[in-house]
Amino acid sequence: MSQHELKNPEANQGGVNSMPVSNKQGAKRVFIETYGCQMNVADSELMGGILKKEGFDAATSMEEADVIVVNTCAVREKAEERVFGRLSQLLQYKQTNPNLVLGVAGCMAEHLKGQIVERAPYVDMVIGPDAYRRLPDLIQGQVEEAHDPAIDVRLDKRETYEGLSPDRQEGISGWITVQRGCDKFCTFCIVPFVRGRERGVPPRDILSQARDLAASGFREVTLLGQTVNSYRYEDSDFADLLEALVQIDGLERIRFTSPYPIDFTPKLIETMARHDKICKYLHLPVQSGSEPVLKRMRRGYTRVEYDKLVKDIRAAMPDVALSTDIIVGFPGETEEDFQLTMELMRETRFDFSYLFKYSERSGTFASRKLADDIPEDVKRRRLKEIIELQESISAEVFNSRIGKVYKVMAQGPSKKTDADWCGRTDDFKMTIFPYQEGLREGDMVNVKITRCTSHTLIGEIV
Ligand code: SF4
Repeated sequence: MSQHELKNPEANQGGVNSMPVSNKQGAKRVFIETYGCQMNVADSELMGGILKKEGFDAATSMEEADVIVVNTCAVREKAEERVFGRLSQLLQYKQTNPNLVLGVAGCMAEHLKGQIVERAPYVDMVIGPDAYRRLPDLIQGQVEEAHDPAIDVRLDKRETYEGLSPDRQEGISGWITVQRGCDKFCTFCIVPFVRGRERGVPPRDILSQARDLAASGFREVTLLGQTVNSYRYEDSDFADLLEALVQIDGLERIRFTSPYPIDFTPKLIETMARHDKICKYLHLPVQSGSEPVLKRMRRGYTRVEYDKLVKDIRAAMPDVALSTDIIVGFPGETEEDFQLTMELMRETRFDFSYLFKYSERSGTFASRKLADDIPEDVKRRRLKEIIELQESISAEVFNSRIGKVYKVMAQGPSKKTDADWCGRTDDFKMTIFPYQEGLREGDMVNVKITRCTSHTLIGEIV
């Protein structure tokens, strides 16, 4: 398995067009379908912005699209297989509209390159994550004369997409990509190979995007990067960037994902603690509680260093919520190693975790050099045990909130009924409460928690 640092790597699995519709007459209409993590959602918005600037418009459905772009994830083999399945479904639109241009963008495009068109010869374009500026030209080339598929997967270590405005859906919560690529090369992960080397987006560009978001009514911004806190641009580090962002009027909350443990500096902890606008929730991927396993993963920190970091963060921000990623069954993981991970979980008491069993990802160091030697039944058993442990810890954490009052940013009606609304606390807990007359999206309300499920708080506005 190849797990990267942005939470919930397969959270977005297709669905609606990522480009907001404006219905321009005569413009070529594009439908972008997004798979993968938040970084891909942000990249789809970026592609939408690039295309709109060049006169394209959004299609309301795939049936009416002139161009369909599938923005893909490569983090696991399963994710790629799902996209191939999806592409074969999309072939039906080419049968009804022979001029339709079908493109594959994102990490899978970079990972498989020309293999995509070998397996799905009806695909017209393959576009890597550093080639989106050229997307309008590639589409135009395919529209003007149907010829061989256009493949552009050059990685460009200077490309930060500076000066381009993403085309965002309306809302209260927006993403800004502040860093692209990754330099860590953890042995199980494919991200550095498909996203290229780490580079920071210039602060002037990030601040201008944040001001635009605030001016358009967004109340919350989440900064994205594979190892977001290792952000650097000339003399500015991540703490400096946060310091500048909190000054923007209208933005109530600033979040970021995902920080990398060794790049969490005392200056960053102090900056987070000092500003109420910076949410007190951190997704801090640990991957394993065992030193030898961490070493084989090449994570660059020891268990002792991770434990100390958690201690320092909690000393500065006692109410901070923590979540993590863990892989069980990594090559060579003994029962003792696994028990050390269980121990770390019992000691750290993460609010919730993303838990995975290892499976090899082609192209990574681990797939070439480390034998995938843990039997499948052992991996499954370890995963089950670790999930049960996390569930019991999460239940205790959520139960401890009953009777307390939290500030919640109202997001809109809950999934089940318009009579209830939902929103998140500062520490990222989904909270459900009865709608009150006059409530609007983005309003901050005080909610007293009366009960909970293992992942949701339920209460009433007080
Ligand atoms: S830090 Fe490691 S796990 Fe995260 S994206 Fe980079 S290489 Fe992958």
